[in-house]
Amino acid sequence: MVYLISACLLGLPCRYDGRVREVSPAVERLAKEHTLIPVCPEVLGGLPTPRPPAERQGERIVNAEGVDVTAAYRRGAEEVLRLCRHHGADGVILKDMSPSCGTNGIYDGSFTRTRVPGLGVTAELLLSAGVTVLDEGGAPPPRKEK
Ligand code: SF4
Repeated sequence: MVYLISACLLGLPCRYDGRVREVSPAVERLAKEHTLIPVCPEVLGGLPTPRPPAERQGERIVNAEGVDVTAAYRRGAEEVLRLCRHHGADGVILKDMSPSCGTNGIYDGSFTRTRVPGLGVTAELLLSAGVTVLDEGGAPPPRKEK
């Protein structure tokens, strides 16, 4: 199967701090079984690397310098959805806790590393478009209680 995947999970240096993340055994396993296409919504949205960290504050994304970067985050999310359709991908595997990619929770917008339930803006857009989203372990995110 073909999946788009958060590029930082494959060890690409696109994280906000420019650091490379070690590829996890779960992602190595996914890479053996499937074709993985790396995408970084924040870079696709036009943001540089490194960049100030940002967090969701409701519908807005604000960085640690107080700048509203919502437009870039939304642009990146749209671009990932477009690429997903372009490649006919079976789904998208996303990095946990990111304000773009988070599926199993996000930080609460206070820049105190406080975790709360919620989705990154890319995860949210993909799920609302009916795309299969998997977390970085290859599992679907928990369903929202109605
Ligand atoms: S936006 Fe997603 S792919 Fe890009 S660095 Fe953040 S978690 Fe990784």
